[in-house]
Amino acid sequence: MVFWTVQPRLCVHWNNALSEFLIPGLNNVAVAEFDIIARYFAQADLGFTTQNIALGIGDDCALLSLPVNSEMAISTDMLLEGVHFPATADPFLLAQRSLLVNLSDLAAMGATPIGFTLAISLPAIDEQWLQEFCKGLTKVAQAHACPLIGGDTTRGPLSVCITVHGWVPKGEALKRSGAQAGDLICVTGFLGDAAAALAVIQGKSNTLTEVDQASLLEAYYTPKSCVAAGQALRGLASSAIDISDGLASDLRHILKASNKGAKVRLDTLPMSSAFCSATPTADRVILALGGGDDYELCFTVAEKNFAEAESRLRQLGVPVSRIGEINTGADLQWLASDGNVVELDVQGYTHFG
Ligand code: ADP
Ligand code: MG
Repeated sequence: MVFWTVQPRLCVHWNNALSEFLIPGLNNVAVAEFDIIARYFAQADLGFTTQNIALGIGDDCALLSLPVNSEMAISTDMLLEGVHFPATADPFLLAQRSLLVNLSDLAAMGATPIGFTLAISLPAIDEQWLQEFCKGLTKVAQAHACPLIGGDTTRGPLSVCITVHGWVPKGEALKRSGAQAGDLICVTGFLGDAAAALAVIQGKSNTLTEVDQASLLEAYYTPKSCVAAGQALRGLASSAIDISDGLASDLRHILKASNKGAKVRLDTLPMSSAFCSATPTADRVILALGGGDDYELCFTVAEKNFAEAESRLRQLGVPVSRIGEINTGADLQWLASDGNVVELDVQGYTHFG
């Protein structure tokens, strides 16, 4: 903690002169970050307690009670202005997306959410922005019984770093490394919608209907939560990953971790009608395989378990598509509908690429 309001400043902070939060309209009264925490983050509808939270926001650490015979699942995702979202991003949607992409990692392990921490840096205090941001967090937190349990608040360029905590029954986590030769490769939902939404966000898709535009924007800002789907696949799927960087890239992570190869039939990739309206036929496969931000699940399952997996997912309203098969080979091959190998150059998104 930094005592920004102490006069004269007693603490040593390398950019001390810059480190006050100023509230517009409040005569430049400096606020300490604990006022912000109390006003926005430590609120009952966001920082609520559940049976797994022994102690939430307010002490040096939160305390979590894990169910017996469980393992803890932890994952962090950082979202930076200008890298992951534009400066003008709606704070409500940004908050929802920030928490949902983190929950997606819990989903991919088959984990049940417990709570999340929020490390946020803000250029200034914008009350309306913070209120909307917290509303977005609250909506997703309540929908997943995953409250805010702690964090850190500093002044700086806008960035949002969330860490989610969850639990899985011991030994039942869906890892990337479990794919077996002969397993089917499956994906939930549709591919490429979030990538196709970028054209809408940039105002380059004026031929699309409003319904299609809304559907693509929703895929980008409010990725469907796969948390329930991930839990339903416990004990059935042999491996799983969430699709954040594009199927081609994320499936390769499963293959590498499992030391296997795969064949994928391009004509079975699930594409939504909005995606097809927005994307010229010739570009569809590349965008569906290489566009990031889908946050659907890619999982492998033994053929004998597929019907049960499909039925469990259907009960949750989650569509599932079989797109290929794992083999003992060393590479990932793309097949046309006639079974012939197609050469494709698809790279997923990489930050330093
Ligand atoms: P410390 O100096 O011990 O790290 P802080 O003053 O940073 O404590 O935080 C005080 C309490 O508020 C802690 O419980 C911390 O987890 C919580 N907190 C700080 N920032 C946030 C935030 N953005 N969201 C939720 N809780 C926060
Ligand atoms: Mg402390």
